[in-house]
Amino acid sequence: MPNAPRFVTCHCQHCNGGIEFDGAGFAHGETRAIECPHCGIETNLFVPYRPPPIPQTPPRPQQPSRKAQVLRFKNPANGYTESVDENVWLLVLLFGCFYFAAKGVWTHAVAGFIAAVTTCGISWLVYPLVAKDIMVKNYLRRGWIQVE
Ligand SMILES: [Zn+2]
Repeated sequence: MPNAPRFVTCHCQHCNGGIEFDGAGFAHGETRAIECPHCGIETNLFVPYRPPPIPQTPPRPQQPSRKAQVLRFKNPANGYTESVDENVWLLVLLFGCFYFAAKGVWTHAVAGFIAAVTTCGISWLVYPLVAKDIMVKNYLRRGWIQVE
């Protein structure tokens, strides 16, 4: 029903008095000069612009938070699993060769200790960079199977 009454209120540009009128016949952006019923000065009536309803945007699909990459290895002999996560470098930085010792990687525990002594600790800072690689190779060499 394009001509159904559409009462809107416009405010006088001089006295700011509210003027209710039927805006159904108004074209978009059309103004009509009338005499204000409040102050008697000519003012323009227009249908207040009503912003179109904001289209409902579907919520953005949540970016799957990057899961810390965890590599899991399974000892086929007893089913025991160990994981090598992204933080292995931090553990190695903190514990150095003791981390390898705790993990049973004696070659690197010993080599890491000797290297740390002979390089005045420089190797201690290098080991974290290759720690993940060492652990992965360690498990694979021992015949463990990567399960993840
Ligand atoms: Zn007025």
